[in-house]
Amino acid sequence: MVRTRALCGLGFVGRGEICDEAAAYRIEARTTDARSITMHLCSTHIHRAWNLAQIAMDRKFPGQNRKVKSIHLHQLVRVAAAEAAS
Ligand SMILES: [Zn+2]
Repeated sequence: MVRTRALCGLGFVGRGEICDEAAAYRIEARTTDARSITMHLCSTHIHRAWNLAQIAMDRKFPGQNRKVKSIHLHQLVRVAAAEAAS
């Protein structure tokens, strides 16, 4: 399991959108030619993972028109919640 305090990555790819929620998921997006990117998203924005990953891909490989083929989700452990329970 992954322990992290990473924040939602919406601000990195959103068009003027900012989110300061703690990330609940790490996503890894891959293209048909095996390029990949990873990003963090909170539970509010995870439903936009596909769209946001494509935007991030276009930023990383500008002008190359790489299409996201698959997305893998890794749910993150909420460190704060774990500490509060102890
Ligand atoms: Zn978010």
